[in-house]
Amino acid sequence: MGTLRFNALEKAISRQPLEVKFPSPKTSEYFATNVFNKQRMQEYLSQEAFDNVMESIDKGTKIDRRVANQISSGMKAWALDKGVTHYTHWFHPLTGSTAEKHDAFFEPATDAYVIENFDGSKLVQQEPDASSLPSGGMRNTFEARGYTAWDPSSPAFVMGTTLCIPSVYVSFKGDSLDYKTPLLKSIEAVDKAAVEMCQYFDKNVTKVNVGLGCEQEYFLVDDALFNARPDLKLTDRTLMGHSAAKDQQLADHYFGYIPMRVASFMQDFEIEAYKLGIPVKTRHNEVAPNQYECAPVYEEVNLAADHNQLLMTIMKRVAKKHNFKVLFHEKPYKDVNGSGKHCNWSLITNTGVNLFSPGKTPKTNMLFLAFFVSVIKGVYEYQDLLRSSIVSLGNESRLGASEAPPSIMSVFLGEEVNRILDEIETRVSGKKMSPSEKTELKLDVGKIPEILPDNTDRNRTSPFAFTGNRFEFRAVGSGANVSSPMIALNTIVAKQLKEFKIEVDKLIETGVKKDEAIFQVIKKFILASKKVRFDGNNYSDEWKKEAEKRGLTNVNDVLEALSAIVSPEVRALFTEMKVFSERELEARLEIDFEKYNKKLQIESRVLGDLAINHILPTVYRYQNILIENVKGLKELFNGADYEKLSSTQLATIKEISSRAAMVNIKVNNMIDERRKANVIEEVDIKAREYSAKVKPYLDEIRYQIDHLEMIVDDEMWPLPKYRELLFIR
Ligand code: ADP
Ligand code: MG
Repeated sequence: MGTLRFNALEKAISRQPLEVKFPSPKTSEYFATNVFNKQRMQEYLSQEAFDNVMESIDKGTKIDRRVANQISSGMKAWALDKGVTHYTHWFHPLTGSTAEKHDAFFEPATDAYVIENFDGSKLVQQEPDASSLPSGGMRNTFEARGYTAWDPSSPAFVMGTTLCIPSVYVSFKGDSLDYKTPLLKSIEAVDKAAVEMCQYFDKNVTKVNVGLGCEQEYFLVDDALFNARPDLKLTDRTLMGHSAAKDQQLADHYFGYIPMRVASFMQDFEIEAYKLGIPVKTRHNEVAPNQYECAPVYEEVNLAADHNQLLMTIMKRVAKKHNFKVLFHEKPYKDVNGSGKHCNWSLITNTGVNLFSPGKTPKTNMLFLAFFVSVIKGVYEYQDLLRSSIVSLGNESRLGASEAPPSIMSVFLGEEVNRILDEIETRVSGKKMSPSEKTELKLDVGKIPEILPDNTDRNRTSPFAFTGNRFEFRAVGSGANVSSPMIALNTIVAKQLKEFKIEVDKLIETGVKKDEAIFQVIKKFILASKKVRFDGNNYSDEWKKEAEKRGLTNVNDVLEALSAIVSPEVRALFTEMKVFSERELEARLEIDFEKYNKKLQIESRVLGDLAINHILPTVYRYQNILIENVKGLKELFNGADYEKLSSTQLATIKEISSRAAMVNIKVNNMIDERRKANVIEEVDIKAREYSAKVKPYLDEIRYQIDHLEMIVDDEMWPLPKYRELLFIR
């Protein structure tokens, strides 16, 4: 009875922290040793090949075949020196995780000798028969081929004994089937628009990079307990479980002492991350029990996105050694905080200027303001797109719950910046300014403090906050591939910058001086996007009302939120900025719907099985004990005595019967609804059915089971409870 749970508990309790072996006392001595980075390239490549890769990284130029051969042989030589036997193109299909198909370096040659073969063509392109990866109907089965192609802007790395080559993944016809392809296109779009804007101020700016720092939140759970919870195993979250008497009320976990077993896990995965060149820097406890965070120093966004995926993979692998499971689900437990992945985003020029840091002079501050208002206007105009870029079945239960930003998009600026924007709004008249007005304005703008207060702690409730020198997109879910929100953000900002320039140029053409034209457009953008600025409490009900008055959208429904990606405005945006074709957008939506359906289907099946096979048999067994007890009492006592002594048990017997009946009926109804939904062909209608008819049962069934958990003998309960999952480490 309940043995799996108790065996698991015994195991979990007896675990000791593992001793971590550092490759060297100095991180710098092993940092990026598993990466074919600039330094290694210099060592293993000819000057010509090296220059070619550098140019390709910088300007996105193609690497020609001949040079590719040189690079591949250099890469192979390095990899073989490290004892590598296989290579793979490593890519991000739309499943949300990463994919790899390993091929051995060795190949039997015709004369029966084995050669180590890896030429340029294999480096540059591969054709995995990955026909089971989602394509949203973009690959007919007769052309099921998808191609992976090397992305030189993210360096190759070694994991275990495999050389991994970061790659894009496209269909036979060139449609993107992954996250990286559109991410690279969005980077190109924002780079181009940002450079053009910078040219008004500084001709030396020829490239603008996107910076991204991801704060990765996660839960840890002992693997024995995890294995005793089929719901965690199969769905990454608990589908049932009464909340623990104590969880996060006392806020005693947040920033608290890191338990030794956890600390040793952290050190261990950090070592692996360092070897792969991932600059992990920050670690701390999060709000919920057994919840933690890890943040690397920000990097160029394409690399940061790769590194985040890689980091999640490493964490899962290293966790095994420590008998932990890492949960990246956005809401693994009811009633405690969920996990996010705050994306800190900024734009940085080749001259080293962070475009969201005010500078020393009026000129640099104008540059700052031009970029700043473009972001705000982008968030305002494409709120629905931003939302669609972060919603998912998992994030649905996290967003809007009391600890996470709601589904209304707004921007937090902080007092200082709000005041500056308000001032510009009143000072710039739109009419031609007098010289003294201009001087005053410039003086004002020049007064923006160079270092703005770090707003990090005052924006906890905002989905999108300015934090002093960057924007923090806080609504992103912990399990997400960050490329999705980054593609959206890069593209909307590119579009706004482009528009900004068009407006300025128009004014200049009519004879307005450049500076004045820029100020006028800044003001125009401030006015146009005012409604999206909000510094108050985003969790409050007043904000919901206020946001509605302002005309901001508030879409709680995931399917509706996802659909924004094919709205006329979004189609126009992505095609104009050359990031997605309409076909690609439609395919993406279809894949998202499909993912939603399948995940819900799995959750519903798992819950049904657990309810019928684990929970009901347990509660009936316990009920039998009570029935025996009552029968015994009846033998010993009679009349009023019997009634008094048996009343509690009888009430419990009845409660068990009625709740068990409810569970049974609801599970059957849920199965019926699933059957009906499953025969629907169109994924969007199917998703609607699943969401409207199947999903509500998950909560209703759980509600009954969680009550049963409270009345059934603890020793009989088959599944580890919240207090065990969350507190035993
Ligand atoms: P918080 O106080 O928000 O929890 P953390 O230290 O956990 O801050 O994480 C902040 C993240 O923001 C780090 O990844 C950091 O490197 C990143 N970051 C800092 N400056 C910038 C910037 N200019 N652009 C992008 N990311 C940045
Ligand atoms: Mg943090």
